[in-house]
Amino acid sequence: MSKYNFGEGQFVVYARNEQEARKIISQELQRFDNIKELMSNLLTQNGQALENFNTNTSEERLNIQFNDLESAIYDEDFIAKGEVRVRKTTKENGFYYELAYRYPEIDGHDANFRLAHEMGHLMLNVADPQRQVYDRESNSRHVSGLIRRDEQTGQFYGEQIQENAINLIAQLAIRGNISADDIVSGKVDLSEYNSYKKCDDLVKLLAVSMRNDFEEEITFEELIEQKIDSMITHKDGTQESANTFFYGILNDSSLVENEFDKYLGKGAWRDLNNAFEQLYDTNLSNDKFELIFKNAQGLIQEFANARYQDKYRETISRNGNIDLPGIGNKLKMLKQMIGEPIVESQINLEQNINKLSLKQKVARFLQKNNLFLNLSFVEKFVHKQMDILPEHTETRENVGISVTPTNKKREDFLNSLTNFGQYRDLPPIQRMSNPQKIEEMKRKMEQKQQTNDECR
Ligand SMILES: [Zn+2]
Repeated sequence: MSKYNFGEGQFVVYARNEQEARKIISQELQRFDNIKELMSNLLTQNGQALENFNTNTSEERLNIQFNDLESAIYDEDFIAKGEVRVRKTTKENGFYYELAYRYPEIDGHDANFRLAHEMGHLMLNVADPQRQVYDRESNSRHVSGLIRRDEQTGQFYGEQIQENAINLIAQLAIRGNISADDIVSGKVDLSEYNSYKKCDDLVKLLAVSMRNDFEEEITFEELIEQKIDSMITHKDGTQESANTFFYGILNDSSLVENEFDKYLGKGAWRDLNNAFEQLYDTNLSNDKFELIFKNAQGLIQEFANARYQDKYRETISRNGNIDLPGIGNKLKMLKQMIGEPIVESQINLEQNINKLSLKQKVARFLQKNNLFLNLSFVEKFVHKQMDILPEHTETRENVGISVTPTNKKREDFLNSLTNFGQYRDLPPIQRMSNPQKIEEMKRKMEQKQQTNDECR
């Protein structure tokens, strides 16, 4: 395979000969236009998010590399399926993107999902550095989608949850005749294998837990029809995003973080992020994975339960109790997603528990569930609530979940992302000069490593 370069690097393609290279470019540009349109269809016309996406995917802003199965992404990585990078130009604050993906079918998957995922990064990366706004409440700054930067420590967080959020957005874009509800509820999975896919279900739960259709219930298919970043106008004229999760990642993720913390206590979102970081650790044992996953799932479920009831009450106080949909359907969807049996009487009960404060309810749930107490972040939360629940005497054991070791790849990924409008130069592309290493990488590639990281 040879590398062909068209238009000063605007298109780079790996192919057997020039004729094939031209054929692949024309075929893949059709795919690109098609996926771009499907992604755009999720967003409000003339809205900020669409404007952002259009800027980032414009010809002036984007170079594309079409890799075959064997070529290395950016001449560096033989096993990644794709990657987006940001590059600085000589102009002040000027930057452009490089997007690489493999065009052939891999394990029965054509490149549609792969490309949609990479384009998801362009949808979430801000086109205008001024949109990287600071939020006082979380003392952090919006960087890209769910990636935020702690203002005090300078540390990034949210990059793992973001990968799963992008998997969800990509699936919604390419869903074709499959309903968005089947995707969001997890009945149908259109994403191809990637190493972080195992956390997709948690992000689906987050999207479902942050729905705002309490005055009039809408399906997720209907949400997409009215666009995932749209606003809904209540009967009293006040406005709210149709879904806080989608709106937040497309505009300002402090909305997502603060909403989560509002119901589970300050720092809960960072704790959930911590759980994601641990779940991404490829050295994590299956047992620990199961434990942390279940706990994270339970935490999001509690968040959803508490939030639904609160939003329901809020809607009643705004409109009176006339013609309001209950929260039964929403609770049922959650339970189905988690695989819990649905007992009607229980749903009614959950719908009506209003005696305890939300935080007390969550704390009570956590106490009941021993598994939860093995997680340090949950322990912290329960401790915070001890004053109001003095009857709790159970002893707890901390399993001592280790801190994720520094992941060089992820660090590199973060370094390649926008940073307060100071777009960093990436190290010059290094060709692998060590033939032994190249052989080793190729062998790995041939073994079709199932741990392929699709994007960093
Ligand atoms: Zn990615």
